[in-house]
Amino acid sequence: MKKTKLCPLMLLCGVLLMFVGCTTVSQTGRSALHLVPEGELTAMSSSQFDQLKQETPISRDRAYNAMVTRVGERIAYVAAPDMPNAQWEFVVFDDDEQINAFAMPGGKVAVYTGILEIIKSDDELAVVMGHEVAHVAAGHGNERMSHKILAAGGAAVVGIGTAAADMDSGDRALILAMFGAGATYGAILPYSRYHESEADEIGLIYAAKAGYDPRAAIPFWERMETLGNGAPPEFLSTHPAGSTRIRKLNELMPRAMDAYQNR
Ligand SMILES: [Zn+2]
Repeated sequence: MKKTKLCPLMLLCGVLLMFVGCTTVSQTGRSALHLVPEGELTAMSSSQFDQLKQETPISRDRAYNAMVTRVGERIAYVAAPDMPNAQWEFVVFDDDEQINAFAMPGGKVAVYTGILEIIKSDDELAVVMGHEVAHVAAGHGNERMSHKILAAGGAAVVGIGTAAADMDSGDRALILAMFGAGATYGAILPYSRYHESEADEIGLIYAAKAGYDPRAAIPFWERMETLGNGAPPEFLSTHPAGSTRIRKLNELMPRAMDAYQNR
């Protein structure tokens, strides 16, 4: 039998990665690779978010702002144990064309007026915000970036440590896309199916624990699927719905209802 020869450097890298980069998603127990230090990720995210706020009109609609802050604060409260260092910020971006919402590391959350026009209740908004915050709490941005770093042979991924304003537009679009915020810049990077399932699971429990009826998730996702006259809205390009998602949400429902009723 032929023995595979292991390069000592590769072995060292592997061992280092195990110590430096491997983490467990606490809510689901899944192992994940996180190569970017949390502090660096948060700093990058804050700088990008500030830049987005300067470039994008912010809605002055009182009802929308009140709704997003009200629901956001309750989601933030229940997500706090998973994101203890978050400096929460909730913003409504005024763009009716964007059926989108996203959250970035450090607790930066944006909801576009386009998706708020479709959302019918606080319960539905909690489903969306719970899901987006769950992507952050589970470290999906870090994981996506870490896989890019590995693919680049360990080289630093584009833009880390670079101020948003100094960043090349392509690099910036890619970074924003990793957090689901790239649609405006022409870069859409769908989350993988397991990231979507994980965010659904964690987000539904967040919404329920925050006092929102998790059953709202089913009609919301079903309605999202019927939108767009053939071309799916942006939120669906990064968060594809479908019958598998609805089936899984239904499977999660007893646990979510238990969290909702026994808060
Ligand atoms: Zn998602």
